[in-house]
Amino acid sequence: MAESLTAAMTILRQNKLKITKQRHALLEFLLTNQAHYTDVVTVNAYMRTEFPGMSHNTVYRNLKEFEEVGIVEQNTEQERTRVKYQCDFHHQHHHHFICQNCGKVIELQMCPMDFFTAQLPDCKITGHSFELYGICGTCQAAGVKETTLVKN
Ligand SMILES: [Zn+2]
Ligand SMILES: [Zn+2]
Ligand SMILES: [Zn+2]
Repeated sequence: MAESLTAAMTILRQNKLKITKQRHALLEFLLTNQAHYTDVVTVNAYMRTEFPGMSHNTVYRNLKEFEEVGIVEQNTEQERTRVKYQCDFHHQHHHHFICQNCGKVIELQMCPMDFFTAQLPDCKITGHSFELYGICGTCQAAGVKETTLVKN
């Protein structure tokens, strides 16, 4: 965990982003929940409790900057934006399995894009997002089944 924090601060420095108290606290908060996506609303609420004078805009801008430099991964689904600390700073492009019960995120090493580009020879693909959903091993062992999932 200390190592990830150091790696993130190095990235901030390389991108000429000052390590303010707020950015440091934001990194630490994201690190405590490293294996799950956290709703930006929750992140914002936490930061504004720690720093009462901090504006919503500053929190969102900091998250955006973190995303741009590759510290944070973002996922938007049904108008909910969620963020997560980067799984691995060394190979940034990857996909995720997300447990629908506990929210745990597992990193997938393969990108299926080559398979799709072969089927779209006339098209110029400008981006993609791809995530798998299901029930993780721990939750299955605890007896969670597809039919008992709580829909949110
Ligand atoms: Zn990831
Ligand atoms: Zn799970
Ligand atoms: Zn990909």
